[in-house]
Amino acid sequence: MELEGERMIDQPRVGIGAIPFASRGDLGLDKMRVVQCALSRICGVCAQTLDRPVVFLGSEQEAARNAFWFPPTHRSCAEHALRTWARDWPASMGQREPVARWVMVATSGFEFVRPTRELVDRRPTFAPNSLVEELPLPA
Ligand SMILES: [Zn+2]
Repeated sequence: MELEGERMIDQPRVGIGAIPFASRGDLGLDKMRVVQCALSRICGVCAQTLDRPVVFLGSEQEAARNAFWFPPTHRSCAEHALRTWARDWPASMGQREPVARWVMVATSGFEFVRPTRELVDRRPTFAPNSLVEELPLPA
């Protein structure tokens, strides 16, 4: 029984349900919640306040252009998301196509980039703005 308690320490925090907080499952991301995550600095998976650094989980392409769809998360939450949803259900993480390789990056800050009218893809993105470090993916 005591092991049960200890194991909880490494688990993502409360608020995790069948889908990430910022997700509408097959429908992709919940726009209102994405904005809420950005403005309130809460985690896109568990909806709790973020610490620094924050972690972004996305495709290689997102990492390359420094623009992530999914809101910032805790590191443990990003790892939980990767294991639980990302690999088998990329739509729930805001992906419209299969993801060949997921990337997890840590950063101490980010900018929330709202789409401009000219853009075809009108989803907001998150741009890490400092000390980006790629993290190893959990097994
Ligand atoms: Zn979290």
